[in-house]
Amino acid sequence: MTAKILIVEDEPAIAELLAFNVVQAGFYALRAENAETAWQQIRQYAPDLILLDWMLPETSGIVLAKQLRADARTCDVPIIMLTARGDERDKVLGLESGADDYITKPFSPRELMARIRAVLRRHIPVMPDEVVAIGGLELSPISHRVTAHGMSIELGPTEFRLLQFFMTHTERVYSRTQLLDQVWGTQVFVEERTVDVHIRRLRAALEHSKLDHLVQTVRGSGYRFSCITQ
Ligand code: CA
Repeated sequence: MTAKILIVEDEPAIAELLAFNVVQAGFYALRAENAETAWQQIRQYAPDLILLDWMLPETSGIVLAKQLRADARTCDVPIIMLTARGDERDKVLGLESGADDYITKPFSPRELMARIRAVLRRHIPVMPDEVVAIGGLELSPISHRVTAHGMSIELGPTEFRLLQFFMTHTERVYSRTQLLDQVWGTQVFVEERTVDVHIRRLRAALEHSKLDHLVQTVRGSGYRFSCITQ
């Protein structure tokens, strides 16, 4: 799957340059000039990575990074902060706000692309592109759609990945740590209970079609995706 990169930058010339480089590197580029349009883009397209300018009008990049980290839908989307400020204190502040990496303007496009690739590699375990169908569910990675008995289901990006992992690894128990490694990636420092939050969301999404029983809790061990009723 081609990674979608959201560029949040209010200066048109820099946004243009970033988008050009992102597309050249083989990614999809999405753009937003402020926090409000960034959220619209996130809701609509679920980007795989966010390039976030520190100095934005109204809501600053730091505040937006904190909001992104606090929201279950975006808490695990990698963020690279862009800034004209270069001192160490700012860097620490940027990383503390939830950014995964930090790059100072003016940046070399080559360095920025190397950072993007490194952050994406770290965060996105590769999932297959094939359509998978099981237990009344059908998931298509290319169109990013899930249907239950032919009816479309809305899933957040993490729930989608979690379901895709489960549907391709059925009838096996996975611990929370294993799921974090397989779905979130090994370098991500998220708490184990994050898994429970997304499992709950996934079950809630499947409940309408009465398919939530497919995601089973195995007490003391973790979770299993199974078509065999518990
Ligand atoms: Ca700016």
